[in-house]
Amino acid sequence: MRIAGFNPESIVDGPGVRPVLYVQGCTHACKSCHNPSSWALDGGQEMTVEEVADLVASALRPLHRGVTFSGGEPFLQAADLARVADAIKLPVMVYTGFVIEELLASRDAGVRALLERAEILVDGRFVAEQKDLALIWRGSHNQRLIDVPASLRAGKAVEWTSLDAAG
Ligand code: SF4
Repeated sequence: MRIAGFNPESIVDGPGVRPVLYVQGCTHACKSCHNPSSWALDGGQEMTVEEVADLVASALRPLHRGVTFSGGEPFLQAADLARVADAIKLPVMVYTGFVIEELLASRDAGVRALLERAEILVDGRFVAEQKDLALIWRGSHNQRLIDVPASLRAGKAVEWTSLDAAG
């Protein structure tokens, strides 16, 4: 795997308090991206799935409600992240520049595996013209909070509506 960084504790990247893993590599090239150093596919630090799982597990505390995968583009390393998710056994939120319709249509087994382990997606590329700092967990208005299990059951996008449980 290629990893861009790790934050052991965040309160702005998903429900409650949680570690955030930043993966390296992104091909979306959004204008005004918050983290262009994460684009290079050969950048970051090379780690095994086991090393990444150990890194995340070492940061887990009883108050943590889940783990977030951000980027970079997590779905470029989907199969490996699915294995990390299996190891840490907590709800997973994933930031992706893809929209869920693209991911649901993918024939890639790794993409499917990561979707099946995700609780929430923040989907869609960052659009600078739609930037809004007041949005919870998102950067721009086009991005959606997606209820992934419900979307998999429905075969289409189902937005996540449990914001009252976000604290
Ligand atoms: S998807 Fe995220 S990391 Fe990739 S270019 Fe867009 S804002 Fe940057």
